[in-house]
Amino acid sequence: MQIISSASKLKELLRKEQGSIGFVPTMGALHEGHLTLIKESKKHNDIIVVSIFVNPTQFLKGEDLEKYPRRDEADKKICEIAGVDYLFMPSAEEIYGDDEPMIQAPQVRGYILEGATRPGHFSGVLSVVMKLLNIVDPSRAYFGKKDAQQLFLIEQMARSYFLDVEIVPVDTVRESDGLALSSRNVYLSDAQRQEALKIPASLNLARSLITQGILDTEEITTQMKKVLSPLQIEYVVVVSRNFEYQKRVEIGNSIILVEVLVGTTRLLDNIWV
Ligand code: AMP
Repeated sequence: MQIISSASKLKELLRKEQGSIGFVPTMGALHEGHLTLIKESKKHNDIIVVSIFVNPTQFLKGEDLEKYPRRDEADKKICEIAGVDYLFMPSAEEIYGDDEPMIQAPQVRGYILEGATRPGHFSGVLSVVMKLLNIVDPSRAYFGKKDAQQLFLIEQMARSYFLDVEIVPVDTVRESDGLALSSRNVYLSDAQRQEALKIPASLNLARSLITQGILDTEEITTQMKKVLSPLQIEYVVVVSRNFEYQKRVEIGNSIILVEVLVGTTRLLDNIWV
């Protein structure tokens, strides 16, 4: 595995490679969720590129940019063992210049839900993903369904900007007790981690209500909120795969999204039904 910090060097090396390139962008502190993305990319591509970059433009002022978990040495070992060919670990200066053009997230779907609690976040995400895709020029890029709105916006950007890449969604990986894996879970105390289990419990309840034929969104989200209480709820909603609010669940076209604060830690989860 080669560890590269220069964008031009990585471009030069990848240009010489034969075969398809699978790309997994991450912010590091790698866990089983990231590893699943890497494994998926290995199934379908010849060369595997992983990036680790804690992207400053997607953090709002006062968010956890400074304290975001950084585990470079452990991450390098994980990637090596996973059979990654190139690990791209650039500095912020390597990726961003001064006063430069940015991708602007769409005015509606980029500013609802996660985009409403974190205005501007998705412009930062889309800008860095555009840069990384231009550097790596992969055949396929892998993103988790756990960040459903992010995945939707990246798929939309790839279409809108006629990017020559296949965006591949990957199912959410969970702990055995149901909590979705996230680099931010390390912020949780033991007691908070227990509280956080209300999130998968609420989603499981939604699934069982739907199985019983209850499709009214209001009814489903009201019951979910009871399970989530007393956690601070940012949103519990049902949207279509196209991120439009739905009054009724449509099997095969709905995503049930939850965002709560556990202490000061923002946790996201969802199920696709
Ligand atoms: P992050 O390092 O948190 O920016 O995540 C990098 C990629 O891993 C994103 O595409 C995430 O959606 C994905 N990811 C994060 N957590 C999980 C998980 N528990 N299961 C599957 N994919 C995940």
